[in-house]
Amino acid sequence: MDCWYEHGLTFSCIPGCRYCCSVEPGFVFLSLKDLKRIALGTGKTLKETLVQYCIPVPMGDVTHFSLKETKRNDCIFLTPEGCGIYEHRPVQCSTYPFWAHILESPAYWEEEKAWCPGIGQGEMYTKEDIQKALAIRTQNPPVTREEIDRILSDA
Ligand code: SF4
Repeated sequence: MDCWYEHGLTFSCIPGCRYCCSVEPGFVFLSLKDLKRIALGTGKTLKETLVQYCIPVPMGDVTHFSLKETKRNDCIFLTPEGCGIYEHRPVQCSTYPFWAHILESPAYWEEEKAWCPGIGQGEMYTKEDIQKALAIRTQNPPVTREEIDRILSDA
């Protein structure tokens, strides 16, 4: 089947935009690697990182973990200068907008422009770049409470 983005897609984050880190309530789901990277970037233990920056999010039979938000729906790491942990930010953030449900069709890609003014302009991402971003997300599934409990009990 032909890949609708065979010739690539353009995207550049608009400096100062911050829309995906604030304004609307939402979840930033964390993989185990994300948690370890944030712990490294903040100089905290895994347990401190969970308690200080994360909330459990029940999802049916499993519970995942998301970054906390302020009352104004700002991510807990959002500063006036932008992301306070940019080099250690979660995979969900670093792979945006190359997410499976946004890339399902050209229509969904166009629709996402309503949320992100950087879509459709700026830097060209090849089909290979996009598929690499999709693979990174697949390889970093959200961590579950069971995994976390096991890690913390071993610590
Ligand atoms: S971790 Fe950084 S990039 Fe991700 S939502 Fe928070 S402020 Fe935005």
